[in-house]
Amino acid sequence: MSEKRDYYEILGVSRNATDKEIADAYRKLALKYHPDRNPGDPDAVEKFKEASEAFEVLSNPEKRAIYDRYGHAGLSGAYQPREFHDVSEIFDLFSSFFGDDLFGDIFGGFGRRRAVRKGEDILCEVTLDLWEVAHGATKTVSIERHAVCSRCQGSGARPGTRPEVCRYCGGRGRVSQSAGFITIQTDCPACQGAGQTIRDPCPECRGRGVVRETVTREVRIPPGVDENTRLRLAGEGEISLTGGPRGDCYCVVRIKEHPIFRREGANLVCRVPISYSQAVLGATVEIPTLEGHDTLTIPPGTQSGAVFVLSGRGLPTRSRRRGDLIVEVYIEVPKKISPQYERLIRELAELEHTEVLPERKSFFAKIKEYLGGRS
Ligand SMILES: [Zn+2]
Ligand SMILES: [Zn+2]
Repeated sequence: MSEKRDYYEILGVSRNATDKEIADAYRKLALKYHPDRNPGDPDAVEKFKEASEAFEVLSNPEKRAIYDRYGHAGLSGAYQPREFHDVSEIFDLFSSFFGDDLFGDIFGGFGRRRAVRKGEDILCEVTLDLWEVAHGATKTVSIERHAVCSRCQGSGARPGTRPEVCRYCGGRGRVSQSAGFITIQTDCPACQGAGQTIRDPCPECRGRGVVRETVTREVRIPPGVDENTRLRLAGEGEISLTGGPRGDCYCVVRIKEHPIFRREGANLVCRVPISYSQAVLGATVEIPTLEGHDTLTIPPGTQSGAVFVLSGRGLPTRSRRRGDLIVEVYIEVPKKISPQYERLIRELAELEHTEVLPERKSFFAKIKEYLGGRS
């Protein structure tokens, strides 16, 4: 390798340049020699590596101080400048200095060559009543998730400072440990694999770079959803810590119990009380529906528990048909009655004593038969 150029000269800055001037100069060079902008140009790749090495040293206060005093010769051991074998390593190391947005700007599609993963998918909940299930609804949901800390722009370092390249692993995040003739790679114990250390953490996020946030979103819910239906809110999940897009949020549908209707798929079931006289003589009764009321004609001689179907009065289905409203009638026995009512019922009882209902008759006939057979 030919003689090393001066780091300040490489970046084109003066020896007393500020951190910001150094970062700006590097950013410009990174743009200029970006491999995607110079396809197949080995010279550009070399320049890119050279600038990155210069930046790696000059952006680290300790390495810079040693370099200022002793030049290239001083940078050995723990202060060894990072050697870049591959442009993706450069991306790994410096994304932390510029944040994902800025770095995305500089490197364009280049960042995607890294193991960029989408953020995690998360859940939120929405509760509907049956009317909303029948008609569809737009509801506001709140989503609990993380956001990039606005104080430190996600670096985790106190504003005005920045994370430093981990001196233990040189920013690689991995260290090799030898045990006999076996060498194993593990996460760096000093930086837990992050490749950088934060000496002065951001007070807002305590160095994590992210903060919790609650956002609200409108969710359009189509008619006919079921309990536990999941509606996808694309890109509303957790942030990615590798510079990828947010995950998705799945909104889980819960359905409130209705005081009158029970849901059975697309059908609604309700129990409607009728009086004994209505059951015997037949009647037209009012039936509740989701939209209001409907009438149902009950024929004379209706039994308790009889079922009537009002077709198309249930919930919508995916095939745009509607389910039915199933009405189960039951005879309501009054608990308090007027003297006149009582007199009439007693008269009825006397009548029934002679004219016993068919089922009762057979019941008593069976008992008689049974007892007769034994004596
Ligand atoms: Zn922060
Ligand atoms: Zn480390």
